[in-house]
Formats: sequence, structure tokens, C-alpha cells
Amino acid sequence: MSVFLECHQLHKQFDGNPVLDGIDFSLDRGECLVLLGPSGCGKSTLLNIIAGLLAADQGELRCDGEVLDAPAQGFHRPMRDRRFSMVFQDFSLWPHMTVAENVAFGLRVRGAHRSRIREQVEQALARVRMSDFLDRKPEQLSGGQQQRVAIARALAVQPRLLLLDEPLSALDARLREDLKTELGALLQDSGVTSVYVTHDQSEAMTLGDRIALMKGGRIEQIGPPEQVYREPSSCFVAEFLGSSN
Ligand code: ADP
Ligand code: MG
Repeated sequence: MSVFLECHQLHKQFDGNPVLDGIDFSLDRGECLVLLGPSGCGKSTLLNIIAGLLAADQGELRCDGEVLDAPAQGFHRPMRDRRFSMVFQDFSLWPHMTVAENVAFGLRVRGAHRSRIREQVEQALARVRMSDFLDRKPEQLSGGQQQRVAIARALAVQPRLLLLDEPLSALDARLREDLKTELGALLQDSGVTSVYVTHDQSEAMTLGDRIALMKGGRIEQIGPPEQVYREPSSCFVAEFLGSSN
């Protein structure tokens, strides 16, 4: 395993309130790291900084050895140059485009050749079992189907890093369970490196190679799911994971 992403002492404030208070972790190539914690603990802020949607106030972010963010040097690499993909809670498909057009769009923007685009779109949609829906518009699909398309769109461009922000939270319990299992297989098979944000401990336990449990803008504990579950470092971690310490 080689280190792919490194966060060093990331800080972020909003209106003078610290939201990230010294975040340190590294992520290996091919690994899925889950950022887990209660609402408001800073998960989305951290993910958005990794994505390049937000700039950190202090610290350093590196990917594959290259600096992405170094506020002390005034350096911020824009999102479009990072070659990361993102999946959001609300699916965020373009409503006026068909399923196939949604998935093709990212490929087209990245300059893929026309003949390759069709092939890659079909492959990506087959992987999420959406091959029969190429010409549908998002409004003609269920929430679970829309999220499958959004995942296909994110993976089709072969991102260096896949970022997911509560991708299952808008779905009902049954669908969430199904898609959680599918997503686990997809992350494994594709070998993509990913950061997965959730407040749901069962998603974290199922999908994470490691879990970073966050509280108040800090990482309380980070480690493989079984370890964090069996050896919680604080009452907060134990209570959040439903384990006993
Ligand atoms: P989480 O994703 O863990 O629920 P967020 O990262 O969205 O948490 O938010 C962390 C804290 O930062 C919250 O208190 C939230 O209200 C605040 N916050 C997030 N984004 C902004 C913003 N753009 N402006 C001001 N405060 C924000
Ligand atoms: Mg959030």
C-alpha cells in the first residue's frame, strides 16, 4: 500500500467559529476511508476541502505527492484540476439530460473521443444495473435509480479519488440497505480510492477499510472498523458505534 492522500493540520473557520480544528490523516491507494460523526461535526466541510470546493485556512493537503492546498503559501489547486469525482446526497443529476447524457457529460468535458464515450457510458451503467434506462430522464427514475446513475457518472471518468457525501441518506431504509451492499462491491471491484461521509454507523462498518470518527471538528479515533468498535478510545466513540467500553 502506498500513501495517496495526506491531510496535515487542516483548519477551517466559518464566521470566526472553528469547524475543522487540526485534521490529520493519510489515505492509502485503493482504500475507502469513512468520515463518521454526528451532524455538524465538520464531515462535509472536510470533504469539500478535499474536493477543492472550499479552501482550508491552515494546513496542507497533498495527493500523490503533489500539494493541492497550502494556504500559508497562498496555493490552492482548483477543483477541475484535481481529477476527483463527487457523489452527493441529493443525486445532483442534470434534469434536462437523459441518463446516458448525464454519464457522458463528464467524459466529454474531459475530452474523451466520441466513439469511446458510448462504450464507457454503457459499461458504467451496466456496472450499476442501469443499462435499460439509457434514454430516461432523471424525473422518470426512483431515488435509488438516480443515485445509481450518479455513481456511474462519478466512476465513468476513472477519477483519482471518489468522494461521497451521505450518498444513501435520502433513500428509504430498504433501498439504502440494497444500495449499501452494491456500493461495497462496486468500491472493491473498481479499486478506486474513496472518502465516504456518513452519520450512519452501519454504513461505516460495512464500507470502510478504516473509519475516522469525528467530533467537533477533530478526529477522535481512526482505525479499521473492528478495532474502533472493539477498542473505542472514549465514551463518545463507544456510544456512537453502539459498542461498550
Ligand atoms: P456535517 O457534514 O458533519 O454535518 P458540516 O461540515 O456541514 O457538518 O458543518 C460543520 C459546521 O460548520 C456546522 O456547524 C455548520 O453549521 C457550519 N457550516 C458549514 N458550512 C458553513 C458555511 N458555508 N457558512 C457558515 N457555517 C457553515
Ligand atoms: Mg454533511
